[in-house]
Amino acid sequence: MAENYYYTEKIETLPKTELKKLQFKRLKTLVNHCYTNSSFYKKKFDKLGLKPSDIKKLEDLRKIPFTVKTDLRDNYPLGMMAAKIGDVVEIHASSGTTGNPIIGPYTSNDMQNWKELMARTIYAAGGRKSDVIHNAYGYGLFTGGLGFHYGAQELGSLIVPISGGMTQRQIKLIMDLQATILCCTPSFAVYLAELMEKEGINPKDDLKLRVGLFGAEPWSERTRERISNELGLEPFDIYGLTELCGPGVSVECSQHDGLHIWEDHFLVETIDPKTGEVLSPGEEGELVFTTLTKTALPMLRFRTRDISVIKDDFCGCGRTHSRMLKIRGRSDDMLIIRGVNVFPSQIENAIMSFEELATQYQIVVDRPGALDIFAVKVELKDHIKQAQLGQDKLKARIRNKIRDITGLSAGVEIVAFGELPRSAGKAKHVIDLRKDKM
Ligand SMILES: [Zn+2]
Repeated sequence: MAENYYYTEKIETLPKTELKKLQFKRLKTLVNHCYTNSSFYKKKFDKLGLKPSDIKKLEDLRKIPFTVKTDLRDNYPLGMMAAKIGDVVEIHASSGTTGNPIIGPYTSNDMQNWKELMARTIYAAGGRKSDVIHNAYGYGLFTGGLGFHYGAQELGSLIVPISGGMTQRQIKLIMDLQATILCCTPSFAVYLAELMEKEGINPKDDLKLRVGLFGAEPWSERTRERISNELGLEPFDIYGLTELCGPGVSVECSQHDGLHIWEDHFLVETIDPKTGEVLSPGEEGELVFTTLTKTALPMLRFRTRDISVIKDDFCGCGRTHSRMLKIRGRSDDMLIIRGVNVFPSQIENAIMSFEELATQYQIVVDRPGALDIFAVKVELKDHIKQAQLGQDKLKARIRNKIRDITGLSAGVEIVAFGELPRSAGKAKHVIDLRKDKM
């Protein structure tokens, strides 16, 4: 018998009209659940004189106010929960470095949905029961590690729960256990590739990796090309947030034309981040999600701060669920330099197009006088000699490329390989010195 192309064929290929009907049915149940079980949502509704019965069609979603990250922080730890402690079976939390973390509680029903969504996600990227999954996402409170773990268990694949760190050991185990799927942050994948090159390992000959599932931080198309070339695998972008469930919200299919959002569980909108106005598919804006099936921590119109575009046209894979294009940046990360909006991912794209440069970079923004200045620090690749550090021609080419993309002129500093800080988790690419001066 031929192998199934989809993990859950009926739901993944459900005609749009059916999908919308299912979404509306689930939305009504969700709104009732929120109003009945969460004092946070009840207060919000009552203030507006809004009743669950006012939601008569899918578009009535717009009557409901947005939920924002500060709502979760203000109601720390579990003030927004819509379930009793006795019904909660697991807790995860965001990796926030300052202030209260975001706590994500799950009922057993939430857990079952999450496992199923993660299995569907891994399967859409080509993962099967026969795969050996090397999971370098952090285990513990972070949703990445255990999210993939549960998904792989649901699929029945072999999972290696290596978690983060111990990079040398990771490389050894990827080789010895013949891992076929790599799950980690894109910056860690780049780091692995660099280290393998240094150790004389040729991933294409020495490893069995064929698929990578990368997420938890924005990454560019250029980074995709490099990971693909250097590790000899097919990279798939994944997306998720602690506030929504963790990973398992959306994933690329083999067409690599955006990430399918699992719309039977998540209702997506894009809005103008400044005015809150709802935008049409194809227009770039901030993603807003409603979690249609979550019970412990349901989210009504959660503003993600992530900037993307929704595509709802036909996808060659046959899935009917809308796609979100690769995250262009976070509205929080967006830098305003001399009045121009700049996303770090744009700079990353420029840097990655230079063969001579390694993948690490840093953007430094400052305001020494009245005007903003910004500089980009880049590294030469390992095998390129120190003597070329002062290469003015290369600097000029990088400067021109950045000007083409952003319209701004930047200082460029080229340093030797290994001089910029490496990270095993999320990379810090921006240093904004203006913050101290405001
Ligand atoms: Zn597709």
